[in-house]
Amino acid sequence: MSSPYPLGLRLAGRRVVVVGGGAVATRRVPALLDAGADVLLVAPEISPALQAHADADRLHWIPRRFAPDDLDDAWLVHVAIDDPDAAATVSAAAAQRRIFCVRADDREAATAWTPAVTRHGPVTVAVLGGGDPRRAMTVRDAVRTLLHERKGPLLTDSVEQGTPVNTPTGSTGRVALVGAGPGDPELITVRGWRLLTEADVVVADRLVPGLLLDELRTGVELVDASKIPYGPARTQEEINRILVDRALAGAFVVRLKGGDPYVFGRGGEELLACAAAGVPVTVVPGVTSSIAAPAAAGIPVTHRAVAHEFTVVSGHVAPDSAASLVRWDALAALRGTLVILMGLKNLPAITATLLEHGRPADTPAAVVQEATTGAQRILRSTLGEVAGDVAAAGVRPPAVVVVGDVVGVLPSL
Ligand code: SAH
Repeated sequence: MSSPYPLGLRLAGRRVVVVGGGAVATRRVPALLDAGADVLLVAPEISPALQAHADADRLHWIPRRFAPDDLDDAWLVHVAIDDPDAAATVSAAAAQRRIFCVRADDREAATAWTPAVTRHGPVTVAVLGGGDPRRAMTVRDAVRTLLHERKGPLLTDSVEQGTPVNTPTGSTGRVALVGAGPGDPELITVRGWRLLTEADVVVADRLVPGLLLDELRTGVELVDASKIPYGPARTQEEINRILVDRALAGAFVVRLKGGDPYVFGRGGEELLACAAAGVPVTVVPGVTSSIAAPAAAGIPVTHRAVAHEFTVVSGHVAPDSAASLVRWDALAALRGTLVILMGLKNLPAITATLLEHGRPADTPAAVVQEATTGAQRILRSTLGEVAGDVAAAGVRPPAVVVVGDVVGVLPSL
């Protein structure tokens, strides 16, 4: 048997016909759409996932059986049906038009094979297993593991995907603001992790999971932002300066921040500082503690028929302070879930204000300390008593306070 000849098809705007609307088509179509193909789906019935693509106009569905003319404008056809006679009809129509035909049902009858694929930023690895899909997947999985463990900027793209905010002007360095998640090192995103493994410089927050830093490649400069002296304002200036200076010197700098970079994380300020210096920035969202900490305690921030909203608020400024931007009286009037970050110090004043403005004292409340880490602690209480309970139990930051009926909605595990 002759070897297959590998190609990367550039399908943007090109018609690809998919015959069949079942499980195989459902698995194949997303990659075709991702490649920008003009997908024509021919099948009497299609799966709900394919229906959703059709409803959103991402593809065109002809709800009937295949007819040879369907291939008239096509560059490629995927046969995703298991009726051999019908599949042979498609193959014949494709051969007549010199269109490559992928056959899910019969690799010998196919004129093209789909590889097992793993994608890493700009790099696509496609594996053909000599006609044995399981062998292809096994090799693909091994390559994927290798690439995940890979240290070094092998797969770095000069222009990162994500949220490019400005374009490079002569400098080769760049900055990524990466959300590290709430504490468990497994709760960083796949992209965040990839960029971290590619960084020349990592500027990390106090709340960043230590285990992530443990796995940086050797030679990476690690800047511990929590150890930078000066007061809070000066510290931020200093961090901005480090990000900009290192990037302008050509480094790829990852600014690793607890949770999500834009939730009380000063990510916006760092982005502005980089933008002002002409340094390109990518922002990678993170799993925020405002949702993950309640979840780790078995508390869903919304629940049908219980809470149709959740509000995340910072408690680091006392409610009666002139510097407060929070309408605590308005928050007290809400029925939904209130999630308070940085709220331990001011908790007595915060709960008193909420009670004063009408939130009932028996509203369930919970506090989750060091959520998703080995040191996680959960305290359950009520709005009326939580401040006293926190003091008595010696709960320490970082902790998230959750107020609302969702607190008791799931059985504690
Ligand atoms: N950007 C972060 C929040 C930074 S503000 C995020 O999206 O999660 C810091 C506050 O976040 C802490 O005072 C605490 O209220 C909360 N926090 C962060 N990590 C936490 C954790 N693991 N457990 C509980 N609270 C946490």
